[in-house]
Amino acid sequence: MELLIKEGCRCGGCRIPRSRLDPRSGPKKNSTFEGGLILKITEGVHLVGGPELTAPEDCNVYLVENSGSLLLVDAGCGLTAVAILERIKKAGFEPEGLKTLVLTHAHIDHCGGAAEIVRRTGCRVIAHRGDQNAIEGKDSGKVAADFYGLEYNPVTVDQPVESKEAKIFCGEQELVLLHIPGHTPGSIAVWGDFPGGRVLFGQDLHGPLHPQWGSDRKQWTSSLREMLSLKADILGEGHFGIYAPAPKVEGFIRSFLYG
Ligand SMILES: [Zn+2]
Repeated sequence: MELLIKEGCRCGGCRIPRSRLDPRSGPKKNSTFEGGLILKITEGVHLVGGPELTAPEDCNVYLVENSGSLLLVDAGCGLTAVAILERIKKAGFEPEGLKTLVLTHAHIDHCGGAAEIVRRTGCRVIAHRGDQNAIEGKDSGKVAADFYGLEYNPVTVDQPVESKEAKIFCGEQELVLLHIPGHTPGSIAVWGDFPGGRVLFGQDLHGPLHPQWGSDRKQWTSSLREMLSLKADILGEGHFGIYAPAPKVEGFIRSFLYG
């Protein structure tokens, strides 16, 4: 089953076709729908932002919840920080409970909303050292703002990750941050074992690659293999959507490895 929240990536480097959602497919158990969009993906994981939810420039923004603690995977493009917080409320949680924002990489469609979300919630920001300068506004060419015609609002990275893997917690939910360079030098994936299975947030695992962003094809290929080896049951991608179960996740990742 493939959850079609596919969107055309607007990063300028790839040409992903838009397609409509198909609410007939996907894990209906433990999932909630709105207008064909799956908002509760599985227990503890919600979609709270994205091209069809908040703004076309947004990546998919995922919320992890455990015992009232909230963690956000990416922050959208910057036009929609308030809308994302409202979506958190609509999902049944208090945005004030947001303690952690993980930025998967330095592109504006993922980190543009971080500064405003931090201002409103006081959450800490975690990102990889490899993209820290760009996220903090010290390497403006790398945030891809020109591709979107948007102005980037920098944010401080409170907890830079330097290791290949790092464990963090959202309540009692353990999550692993995995350094997956290739799309950008400091790209990270987030994964964890939830009651509904292993969930991998592999934002922009599809690429694209661009010299301006410090992309590296060899590293990207190696990172794809690492994500494949996780054998995730559910994949939340930054632009393509949500895939489940495991064979669909594997097929999607393999499609980039072997064309
Ligand atoms: Zn990107």
